[in-house]
Amino acid sequence: MQKYVQRNPSVLGAFLHFKNHQEVDVFKERYTLPESFRSPKLFRQKLQMIVDSAKTQLAPILRRAREGYIKPLAFTWEKNGGPEITLLLFPYFNESQKSGGTYLIGIFIDNMEYINDIVARKFTAMNDGELVFAVREKDTGVLHYFSEETDLEQFEKSEDLWIIPNLEIQIKVRGTTLNQISKKRAQTNLTFLIVVNTVLLLGVFYVLRNVWHEMTLARMKTDFVANVSHELRTPLALIRMFAETLELDRVPSEDKKRAYYRSIVGESSRLTQLINNILDFSKIESNKKEYKLEPADLSRLVRQTLEMYSFHLEQKGFQVTLDADSVLPEIRIDTEAIKQSLVNLLDNAVKFSTDDKSIKVSVHRHNQKVVVSVQDCGIGIAESEQKKIFEKFYRVESSLVHNTKGSGLGLNLVKKIMDIHNGQVTVESSPGKGSTFSLIFPINTNGA
Ligand code: ADP
Repeated sequence: MQKYVQRNPSVLGAFLHFKNHQEVDVFKERYTLPESFRSPKLFRQKLQMIVDSAKTQLAPILRRAREGYIKPLAFTWEKNGGPEITLLLFPYFNESQKSGGTYLIGIFIDNMEYINDIVARKFTAMNDGELVFAVREKDTGVLHYFSEETDLEQFEKSEDLWIIPNLEIQIKVRGTTLNQISKKRAQTNLTFLIVVNTVLLLGVFYVLRNVWHEMTLARMKTDFVANVSHELRTPLALIRMFAETLELDRVPSEDKKRAYYRSIVGESSRLTQLINNILDFSKIESNKKEYKLEPADLSRLVRQTLEMYSFHLEQKGFQVTLDADSVLPEIRIDTEAIKQSLVNLLDNAVKFSTDDKSIKVSVHRHNQKVVVSVQDCGIGIAESEQKKIFEKFYRVESSLVHNTKGSGLGLNLVKKIMDIHNGQVTVESSPGKGSTFSLIFPINTNGA
């Protein structure tokens, strides 16, 4: 006890009070202590008063002490005027004691010393720079200690200072308030929630878009199969009919015969074109199509294609004019593929023209480009459809288009072929006024 009192600056003294009224006490030099310690009579009186007044509080604590649980009771020993002193009383239970087994331990603590020595040291050890602590007297509001000069109003949390009555610890977060922290956290959480929800919505949007896309594609494929079968069946039926009639020699005149032969040639070349489109399309889709790019004169190629196709055009009552530059730089192209593209454009011009059956084809150089255009005076294409018509299987949903035969592959194939040539296919069109499709070939950088 001697050592304990001497070593702790905040402990002024301690005593053991045995059940048989014997007492042992140890104090710091009495002359340094307040009046209540210096006169033994006064001291005894005061202590007796406190112990008497605390009888009801002490009873349960003594009971617990038997079970080994020790809890001190705190009393203000001295306050007004002089230094504040707290008396801690706790029972100690020991079976082997001759004194009856139970005795009271009392410790006198100098509050200010306790705050400055123990509490301050604890705060310093605990503090990682984030928190500011203060010790405050509850009823007067006087601050006895604070770890940093700060505005008392800003303290947001207070806790009793262990067993010392009337003192409390005040805590705040440095440079901010708990309110601000929770506001900031709420903001962060809200932002996070918004981001998560946006991602979720985007996900849902993409899934729905994909589903919609897949459904459209499935419908287009079904339409494609129906269209292609129809388109295959009609020319085949015609070829067969003409061939059978010719075979049975039932054709009355030579002119009629020639007309039949022409029809057979025409229909079979249309069949070839359709089948070529489908085969090329599937080859390109599976990356098996090979192109042979060789320097060629585009004007000549266009003229040859028109000649080859003229019979079919004339037969349908079309007038085709060609306007081509006489001198053009040679362009590296796959002639068969470009011919096929041109035939697809001409075929569309024929299919989607009504009364005005004129088609203008032109081949011109514009700066570093050579442009092949096919212009018709047909039904035209609405602005909103002009991008979509280059997608595979896409056909505009109008009654006139519905009545024409087609696979929806022609323009997609033209686009793919022009991509291979580092070129472009464009359309200018307005409904009712006709359309102009242009194949644009770059000079120099082309296809090499
Ligand atoms: P298809 O002609 O076999 O239907 P395409 O890919 O060649 O397939 O054309 C796609 C769609 O673009 C056509 O169904 C049609 O609606 C529209 N289209 C193409 N060319 C023309 C044109 N010259 N005039 C009007 N519409 C056209």
